Amino acid sequence: MASDPSDRTQAATDAESAFMTLSHDLRLEILLALWDAPGFSLSFSELRKTVGERDSGSFTYHLSELRDHFVAKTDEGYELQYPGHRVLDAIQSGVFHEQVAVGPVELDTDCRACGEQLTFKYDTDYIARVRCSDCGNRAIEWPFDPGGIADRDDDAIVAAFDRRTRLIWSCALDGVCPFCAGRVDRELTSQVHEEGACVGVIEQLDRYDEYFARDHPAVVAVDCERCSFYSFIPVGVVLLTRPAVSGRLHEADIDVRATPLWDLGFVVDADAVTVRDTDPMCVDVSVLDAPESLAFTIDASIDVIGEATPET
Ligand SMILES: [Zn+2]
Ligand SMILES: [Zn+2]
Repeated sequence: MASDPSDRTQAATDAESAFMTLSHDLRLEILLALWDAPGFSLSFSELRKTVGERDSGSFTYHLSELRDHFVAKTDEGYELQYPGHRVLDAIQSGVFHEQVAVGPVELDTDCRACGEQLTFKYDTDYIARVRCSDCGNRAIEWPFDPGGIADRDDDAIVAAFDRRTRLIWSCALDGVCPFCAGRVDRELTSQVHEEGACVGVIEQLDRYDEYFARDHPAVVAVDCERCSFYSFIPVGVVLLTRPAVSGRLHEADIDVRATPLWDLGFVVDADAVTVRDTDPMCVDVSVLDAPESLAFTIDASIDVIGEATPET
């Protein structure tokens, strides 16, 4: 959600002209040919031969349209530039032209509500869902790109979903947009259920019937100031990227790297979260699977301020 409408209009105009530059299939073929070439570079004649364009005038025209932004002229020929790479990366993510479905895949994790086995399922709406098919408990639901499915078996797809979701969440929680690199506003909020606020906003989208962590007493709302990225992240995810916390969890026999997100009770279980204060916000997150009582306090600045002392 970019904040200033005039900035947004200008950005849209600039981006529109950049997208228009790519509006001819020969131009995308030129980018793809350079991507496949050693050093992402080809001479004029090699490039023309690779894309198979017989009309020299047409080829020269379309290549010139890509010059200086997507493609640079060098002494040896033409070289793919960073924006050209990013265009190809976006295409390879598959979100513009692929729709695939995977699963259900049975996971090695039991449902925390009923003890049945959780399953992973990826659908053509681009959402990966880790759920219990028995009681309906939803551990995690998050968008995933079709690029994550290609050339992987089921176990590897599930592992890739875990890794990528962590990366997106930890980046956003640090205030950096994982999609556009812009500033992300973050707010620890307990207004999870209030109408029109917070989770209600995302539930108005068709993508989610109901936000998977709406039963948590608090979540972190994240909202990019620059692009359309906004969402809600379970508070327990904050514990994953703090070395002192990882050390304490390691002592408690919990390996936060080897254990998938949906098997970490402090991430997926609503019972792990206790709102200690609302002004300013302060939340305790309990490590439910630790052999002894272990909890951490997270404050309004999304920092772990220490181990929580159990309330007596
Ligand atoms: Zn269940
Ligand atoms: Zn962004």
